[in-house]
Amino acid sequence: MNLTVVLNEPQDLVNIAAAVRAMANMGLARLAVVNPREFDAWRITGIAHRTDHIVDAVARVDSLDEALADATFVVGTSARARTAQRNYSRPRELAPRILRHARKGGVAIVFGREDRGLSNDALDRCHEVMVIPTTPEYSSLNLGQAVLLVAYELFLAGAGETGSLPVGKRSLGPATADELEEMYAALEAGLERIDFFKARKAESVMRTLRTAFGRTTLDAHEARLLASIGYQVRNRLERITRKGDSPS
Ligand code: SAH
Repeated sequence: MNLTVVLNEPQDLVNIAAAVRAMANMGLARLAVVNPREFDAWRITGIAHRTDHIVDAVARVDSLDEALADATFVVGTSARARTAQRNYSRPRELAPRILRHARKGGVAIVFGREDRGLSNDALDRCHEVMVIPTTPEYSSLNLGQAVLLVAYELFLAGAGETGSLPVGKRSLGPATADELEEMYAALEAGLERIDFFKARKAESVMRTLRTAFGRTTLDAHEARLLASIGYQVRNRLERITRKGDSPS
């Protein structure tokens, strides 16, 4: 299955081992680790026995963007809703959608560090933010246990599947995180150029766009079209300004 568990800056090796064990229990195999405080394959497999197939294949990367570059559906996880409006969902509802996405593109499920969780910036990279239900008084789960609960829901959601369904031939697959980042950058540059941010905060406008587009799965063609709109606005205004005309 094209599904990667991403641990962003895990601080405790024991939690990496717990996550690996949970993945082995529930049949997930791909793990990416972003800037771990410590990583020692020997110690991890010493805690989580018979998980060499996962640990030997771990992708160790320096940035979250690197871990997400090929993903077409990015799911964050968080214990609590922050102030920003995002696409929040429960693992049970989201699991079937995640499995469907994993059949046609790469899915990344991102877990935050033990002391701070995921930053707003990291959550901005996510199409959906999954919140595991808990009592409101104590909502923060241990990292390894959060991975277990998510992997368990995916396992249950997949249990009813008998082989994969036929997939219609699409000329273009879903846009990757890289393509989406390029699109947002182009749109932001275009909006900047028409002074859209004079009266509005760029950060919150861009976040609202991310939230809205995050609800749909843009394919590569659609992402490129939106990026072109941004580029065209910028280029056109640059041409007009160069001629000395007023861009009105
Ligand atoms: N103090 C941090 C908690 C981090 S717990 C905070 O309040 O954000 C470490 C990670 O475990 C989180 O980043 C998230 O990936 C996962 N996690 C913990 N509790 C969770 C919950 N209730 N739902 C979803 N993910 C959770």
